[in-house]
Formats: sequence, structure tokens, C-alpha cells
Amino acid sequence: MKIQQGRNRENKPLNFAVGPVMMSDEVLEIGSQQIPYFRTAAFSEIVKYNERMYLSLLNAPENSRAVFLTGSGTSAMEAAVINTLDAGDRVLVVNGGTFGSRFCDICDIHSIPHDVIKCEYGKTLTREQLFSYNAHNYTAFLVNLCETSTGVLYDLNLISEFCRLNNIFLIVDAVSAFLCDRIDMSESCADIVITGSQKALALAPGLSLLALNERAVDRVLRNNIKSLYFDLKAYLKDGERGQTPFTPAVGTLLQLHGRLKQIERDGGTDGEIAKCRKRAKYFRDGIKKLPISMFADSPSDCVTSLVLSDTSKSAYNVFETLMNDYNIWVCPNGGELRDKVFRVGHMGALDNTDYDRLIEALGAFFAVDEKVEGG
Ligand SMILES: *Cc1c(COP(=O)(O)O)cnc(C)c1O
Repeated sequence: MKIQQGRNRENKPLNFAVGPVMMSDEVLEIGSQQIPYFRTAAFSEIVKYNERMYLSLLNAPENSRAVFLTGSGTSAMEAAVINTLDAGDRVLVVNGGTFGSRFCDICDIHSIPHDVIKCEYGKTLTREQLFSYNAHNYTAFLVNLCETSTGVLYDLNLISEFCRLNNIFLIVDAVSAFLCDRIDMSESCADIVITGSQKALALAPGLSLLALNERAVDRVLRNNIKSLYFDLKAYLKDGERGQTPFTPAVGTLLQLHGRLKQIERDGGTDGEIAKCRKRAKYFRDGIKKLPISMFADSPSDCVTSLVLSDTSKSAYNVFETLMNDYNIWVCPNGGELRDKVFRVGHMGALDNTDYDRLIEALGAFFAVDEKVEGG
């Protein structure tokens, strides 16, 4: 009976994945328009507004700059590393999952000397762990503020304290944390903060954003990198007049403009974070009776990672069943977490009734499972 209800309810697809996420009607409407020619004063004004607003949402210090790259979040991770670090650096990388491991790969490929602080899946970085690396002459630090693959949020205050003490250059991948968890570039000592269009900005994928403080801009200008497309010097220079060296994701930059206006109107960063927290809390309260529990010991509000109480069942099957029978996407995990963990995102245009539909579907999934088991 329950399954029938689930199948027959209004069947619009619902996306609780961690990117791309559900877009607002306003953003969708902008995306449906023709793409204008972009080497114009009008488009430059839009890009300049986007830069000002991105920096302002991060409370970036004076003389900070933003760069818009046409490429997914990973392109910005790689660009940040190769434009500010080189073989003369000694880098510390936090690796607690897929995205931490990606920073390690980037350092490997570009021969940047690095040591790895390994965090167990689902566990945050502790003070003891971090401070065992104190006074070791590191020059740079790479962290994914939310390790989206496990839902763990690292402590930016703790990391800032460590980096300040050791005068370390700090690159923060906030691709998923931006607008979900608090990031203040003036309070923290983040030198670069990265995000992407398809996470909490809730736009089409393909655009990534970097915020650089003065120290980061200096490093970019001094660095001679072997890349045409990813040389940020050109982006900084053209950005002064609201332009980019190559054709940008014009349509997505226009959607970004609309979305930033929306955020400005709705209470800025704090307003977005509050909305995200409310969605996360509503969902987490709603699943208390289900045989699933929180996987992350220090969860970000952008995503809830869940572990099945019954280890004979597969988390991947939750993903498949919701997709096939309910037209609902949650996010499966890969590797060794494939059958243990699935994730439910809290980014994008989602409201309580959307979560009600998800919770009902999860309830039916586990109820049916129990019945089969019972006999
Ligand atoms: C999504 C995400 C990225 C970027 O992934 P792309 O697929 O390249 O957009 C990077 N870091 C984190 C923490 C993410 O959640």
C-alpha cells in the first residue's frame, strides 16, 4: 500500500544529490533565454557585480579579487594549486575522502612536495592530529572544508589558528560548504576560497569561482606557470574591466547574477546558511525513527551522510530504489562505502514538502524490507 502511494504521488523528479541540485524558477527562467554577445559594457557590469558579491558573501578583506573559471570545481582546485604553489613549497593536505584525495593527486601530478594528514572516513580532523604537524616548516595547507564524500565538516577556526601560528598559505575548497557553513575570509586566514556553480549556488554546472586575498594575488603574479588556459594572471588582468581572457560560461554567469541578487535580497550569507540548516534539521528530525544513522561525527549542513543500521542491506540499493520507484535522487557512495553509506543533500531549491516525500519513500523502503525479513 505504502509503495503504491509512493509511486502514485505527484511524480516530478526530486533531486537530493550534492550537485547539480534543484534550481529556483527564477534561475531556470534566466537559463531559458538566448545567450547574448559578451564583449560589451553591459556584460562587464554583470561580471563586476558577480565579483563584488562573491567577495562580499565571504567577507573577503580589502584588495581581494574573484576569478570565474569555465570548468567544474576541480578545475578551480587545480588552478589554485598550480598558480600559487610550486616545487619550493612544503604542503600539508587533509585527506578524509574523495576530495581530499583529489588534492593529493593534483600535488602529485604537478610535483608539489606534500605530506598527507589522513582522516578516517566520517571523522573530523582533531586538534591533537593537526598540532602534531606544528612547527614543521610547512608553507601551504589544502583542505576541503566539507569533505562532501563523507559529509564531514572540518573546523575552520582550528585550521586558521594552526595556519596563522605557522604562517601557512591556506587554500580552502568550499565547493560544497559555501552558503551552507560559515566561512569568513577576514576572520579566518583562508587565502583562497573555491566554490562551484552546481552546489549551493544552485546553478547549472560548469562554472567555478575563486576568491583570492591580496597575499594570494601576489603569489599568482609572481608564479610562472606552464598553462595557457589556467594562468590566473590573465583572468585577474581582464577581470579588472569585467571580462575574461576566453569565452566564459556566459549563460551561467547570467544565472549567477540572478542568483546573487536573490541572495542579496534574502539576507546574504547568513540567510542562506540559516535556510540550509533548517532543511538539514527538518530532514534529520524526520528520519529519527528509521534504521539509519548519521555517518559523520561533525556533519556539515550541506549534506547528511547516512549509514544503514542493518549491515546485510545495501546503501546502494536505497539509491537505486528511490531513483527507479520514486523518481527521487539521493547520492550513492563509491569505493568501500558503496554498500554502507548514502547521502542526502540540503543544497538548492528544496522545501519541507520535498523532504516529506523523501522521508515517506525511505519509510516505505525500510518497512518493506522489514516485512520481507519477518517472513
Ligand atoms: C563537488 C565538489 C568539488 C568539485 O567537483 P566537480 O565535479 O569538479 O565540480 C570539489 N570539492 C568538493 C568538496 C565538492 O563537493
